[in-house]
Amino acid sequence: MALLLTGFGPAQEAGSKEVEAVYPEARDLYVNIHQNPELSGHETQTAARLAERLRSLTYEVTEHVGGTGIVAILKNGAGPKVMLRTELDALPVEEKTGLPYASKVHTKDDAGHEVPVMHACGHDLHMAAIFGTAAVMAHSKDTWHGTLMLIGQPAEETAGGAKAMLADGLFTRFPKPDFAVAMHVENILAAGTVGITPGVYNTNADSLRITIYGKGGHGAMPQTTIDPIVIAARTILTLQTIAAREVKPGELAIVTVGYVRAGTKNNVIPDQAELGLTVRTNKTQVRQQVLAAITRIVNAEAEAAGAPKLPLIEHYESTDLVYSDPALAERLKPALEAALGRDHVAMEDPIPASEDFSYYIQQGVPGFYFSLGGADPEKFAQAKASGMNLPSNHSPLFAPDVDPALHTGIAAEVAVLRELMK
Ligand code: ZN
Ligand code: ZN
Repeated sequence: MALLLTGFGPAQEAGSKEVEAVYPEARDLYVNIHQNPELSGHETQTAARLAERLRSLTYEVTEHVGGTGIVAILKNGAGPKVMLRTELDALPVEEKTGLPYASKVHTKDDAGHEVPVMHACGHDLHMAAIFGTAAVMAHSKDTWHGTLMLIGQPAEETAGGAKAMLADGLFTRFPKPDFAVAMHVENILAAGTVGITPGVYNTNADSLRITIYGKGGHGAMPQTTIDPIVIAARTILTLQTIAAREVKPGELAIVTVGYVRAGTKNNVIPDQAELGLTVRTNKTQVRQQVLAAITRIVNAEAEAAGAPKLPLIEHYESTDLVYSDPALAERLKPALEAALGRDHVAMEDPIPASEDFSYYIQQGVPGFYFSLGGADPEKFAQAKASGMNLPSNHSPLFAPDVDPALHTGIAAEVAVLRELMK
């Protein structure tokens, strides 16, 4: 399978050959993992599969680190210690890509709800890439020295995995790395390219669960009730005024109500309603302002409706933004350009997503977090010309253009590791 990229020189040709040698096995792993996605914290088969593959490449693999996490170490003399991370988890999304290897998996989530499962964030591609990278590095020990530490992190989507691995001794039972690296596939870049964002890469994320209390009763006798669905509806709309009216224009503030749960039957007014929110910001002061405004609005809407008690506001997940070390980005950019070609390395703006990779950086480890293009280059060009957006990560239609993306992912990771461990 040839890489359909333009502007390739001899350096890229040589790199491409190494990737070709490990590619079929990496692609097999991709399809296999894609068809067998597992939810956050339940990645037992996924972790076992990846652990087995890395062991076969002579990595020293430890399983069950922070739950289902794995740590795979390859020592190659004295030198820098570098950590490369992939996530293991998938999402409760029903796959609608129509791909021949689309997921048909359903399972029960932690709350006991029956849910579909899909690798809608592309973590399957990250795992396949880390395996390909692991193989290239194991086969070319004359090109680097030091300690390579690959980790498979559970529960990224619920923001608990990095914390759990650290609490289980990731940086004490294993060598604390000098650098931490991770990449993420995205549809906002064409497959075949990577994106670098020095400094702030993404956003702070806060997850809130809000339970609004009312008074239940007959759907035909609203006067005997306090309808929590109406309170929820008003609350949702007022929450949208935080970004539109309260936060200074130009500052990033996103308040999304991702689910509303209430009621069982059309003629029954329930006694409570639940909202699930995600909040994204990129400044501490704005984050505090938005969270305070949510509390004020949620309580005030309940009070305005005469609710029997104030809503319960649970702040159940929280991650800080990922800061990609600017000096590291500057050092790694030429290495990526040499491996992929100058035209295939772009400078990108921060994105409004989030990620618990920030926990590793908070341990004082300089981090390099970069973007991997996932979009079919032709569809990408069409979408750009027409001002349309391709399906984003987490969409039931998210389908990276696997061959160019996976080739590039492996080549990019290898280039980054070799530069850091030369
Ligand atoms: Zn995701
Ligand atoms: Zn992701």
